[in-house]
Amino acid sequence: MRIVDLFDGKKNRLSFEVFPPKRGMPLEESKEIIKEMAALNPDFISVTYGALGNNSDNNVLVAKEVSDNGILPLAHMTCINSTKDKVEKELEILKANGIKNILALRGDRPKDGSEVKSDFTYASDLIEFIKKKGDFCVGGACYPEGHPESLGVEKDIDNLKKKVDAGCDFFVTQMFFDNNILYNFMYRLLRAKIDIPVLAGIMPVTNNRQIKGIIEISRTMLPAKFKAIVEKFGDNEKAMTQAGIVYALGQIIDLIANGFNYIHLYTLNKSSIAKAITEALSDII
Ligand code: FAD
Repeated sequence: MRIVDLFDGKKNRLSFEVFPPKRGMPLEESKEIIKEMAALNPDFISVTYGALGNNSDNNVLVAKEVSDNGILPLAHMTCINSTKDKVEKELEILKANGIKNILALRGDRPKDGSEVKSDFTYASDLIEFIKKKGDFCVGGACYPEGHPESLGVEKDIDNLKKKVDAGCDFFVTQMFFDNNILYNFMYRLLRAKIDIPVLAGIMPVTNNRQIKGIIEISRTMLPAKFKAIVEKFGDNEKAMTQAGIVYALGQIIDLIANGFNYIHLYTLNKSSIAKAITEALSDII
């Protein structure tokens, strides 16, 4: 099934993101996590891909595990140091495993500043390439607060239009903690006549370390009420987990109440958090 067909405007949708183990690490823990998450019956589970493609084998194995548990997988793929040959081979492996949904990304530049070479400059190049190579449903990333390298949200919107023109079927947003930022962004998309489905990426924050990581990778603005929660509970993992779940639920309920139907949960492989959120929304989603 093509993931984009889930977004028919009639039903609310809830999906999860997981990450696979590093290359050479055993899959047992991932298998257990997938089993627990599959029991929650999400609409699909996406599986991340190492920025430099160094865990692509585990990406496919975990995506296959998702489908073996009866859930639709969405395999991420990055291209920052890839060749057309490598991508073609990976597409063949995905096809052989029955995986037809891909989230096509550029990937982050190496933190140490080392040079990377690629046949692809932007995610839109990868999307266009994948679309030519088979009947794949392809999603892309978008950034309600602007991508960290971009010259501004408007410039980003022009670049998102290029992704759509390349064949992108849907977008998943970077995490955000203030829904007004998403509503504003949706208005800009509408104005640019970008009308593919957008999934809101929601991260339940459970500790201080996560916040530091979030600030490092994104431009995300932390609203005052969120900062107050982190200041109060950030050093107490159990309390912060409860507060983070409630905050994420508040965001999700506000989104759905405002007609935003598709929620993608950044679970960080914590099935207990996915469970708490799914159960709290049982009559809503
Ligand atoms: P692009 O769309 O190529 O954009 C990168 C920058 O280039 C942006 O500033 C954009 O405005 C600009 N740009 C794009 N096209 C053009 C153009 N034609 N001309 C000029 N400028 C242009 N990373 C991973 O390593 N693995 C993952 O699994 C992963 N999953 C992710 C999932 C989601 C939902 C999100 C939001 C991000 C994910 N990332 C992942 C992070 C992502 O790889 C980084 O944010 C990366 O820096 C940009 O990827 P992109 O696909 O958005 O790139």
